[in-house]
Amino acid sequence: MVAVLPTRAASGLSADHPAESAKPTLAGLTRERMSDVVRAAGVPEKQVRMRVSQLWRWIYVSGVSSFDAMTDVSKDLRVRLAEYCELTRPQIVTEQISIDGTRKWLLRLPKRGHEARAPEVECVYIPEEDRGTLCLSSQVGCTLTCTFCHTGTQKLVRNLDVEEIVGQILVAKDRIGDWPGASAPADGTMLPVGERKITNIVLMGMGEPLYNFDNVRDAMDVASDGEGLSMSKRRITLSTSGVVPEIGRWGEEAGTMLAISLHAVRDDLRDTLVPINKKYPLAELLDACRHYPGVSNARRITFEYVMLKGVNDSLAEARELVRLLAGIPAKINLIPFNPWPGTDYACSDWAQIEKFADVVNKAGYASPVRTPRGRDILAACGQLKSESLRLRASERGAANNVQDGGGD
Ligand code: SAH
Ligand code: SF4
Repeated sequence: MVAVLPTRAASGLSADHPAESAKPTLAGLTRERMSDVVRAAGVPEKQVRMRVSQLWRWIYVSGVSSFDAMTDVSKDLRVRLAEYCELTRPQIVTEQISIDGTRKWLLRLPKRGHEARAPEVECVYIPEEDRGTLCLSSQVGCTLTCTFCHTGTQKLVRNLDVEEIVGQILVAKDRIGDWPGASAPADGTMLPVGERKITNIVLMGMGEPLYNFDNVRDAMDVASDGEGLSMSKRRITLSTSGVVPEIGRWGEEAGTMLAISLHAVRDDLRDTLVPINKKYPLAELLDACRHYPGVSNARRITFEYVMLKGVNDSLAEARELVRLLAGIPAKINLIPFNPWPGTDYACSDWAQIEKFADVVNKAGYASPVRTPRGRDILAACGQLKSESLRLRASERGAANNVQDGGGD
């Protein structure tokens, strides 16, 4: 069944998330950039480190969004800081909640000088009993054109800044009440049982994260900082379509878990599905995986394989998949294709997915099929897209109760 709880229109949220302003935001910055802002606000050099530590805790541990709440910072400094900067997050345009509890936010980023209008990205939260996974976008659109991916039909608008990537985490924590003492949303939707509501981060939203390497790396440093958001790097996974030259560097500089969008076991087919394969073919990609820093049986690489009916779902391909991955500490994730308006692909029949999974299971890979989440709000893998096909505000209102991705 497909149904969506009413989308909350931007108006209900804008008080918490004021529109962009000329002042920079401190929320989402690295320590280094936060130090620059604090210096610019006139804090003497010998106090900068201490002040940044205070701000850091208020922003990333307590989640405050006003300087007034920072009780151990002097009134005078709070006023001065407020003159130079803000604590704003990306602005929520819409929030959609799926029948299965998955939440998708459409976020508006500050407009830059040359941009005709403010770019928008999507961010998705997937609650399960024992975990809560936040799926972050790294770019507005994507330069790559994987034929089965909705985001791939949207031209690259630009890379996200560090604070725009971290800002997605802050928005999600605000909305699901994942700060100390915050209350959970009153709508009764599912949240994980444990103390933390966001336990995992996946870089699987819009964009190719390795094409925005430095910003994504710095954002994950902020996310994993032990005095702040404290996300474990073992619970952060970067997914790449296969930007081979950056894979090893990512392992060295960021050290998160890795997922590879494989989707085909032959170069000719992968050339069509994931065109970056023409540049970095399968053999090179798998070689980079074999040498991924820190890879071991305890830290396996996830290979994602989207199930496309009649395209890549034969049992011969399942056997070839197992053969290709031999010797690499791997997990296999079979992803039922998530359809989107205008696609020519269809999802493999369930019986075929089960047979394919059987081959993979028998080779020793456990429960590999990923249950699609949030399909009804186009929040599932590869369904994210913003900007060009975005509904106008008036249409959005009408779409509030519309099913099957009405908000996208
Ligand atoms: N650009 C990166 C990360 C974003 S895509 C990458 O390609 O890995 C996240 C995952 O969703 C990738 O494995 C991608 O191949 C998969 N995906 C894209 N479109 C999909 C669709 N329509 N259905 C299911 N999975 C899809
Ligand atoms: Fe870009 Fe990943 Fe989609 Fe390919 S699958 S178009 S790399 S977002």
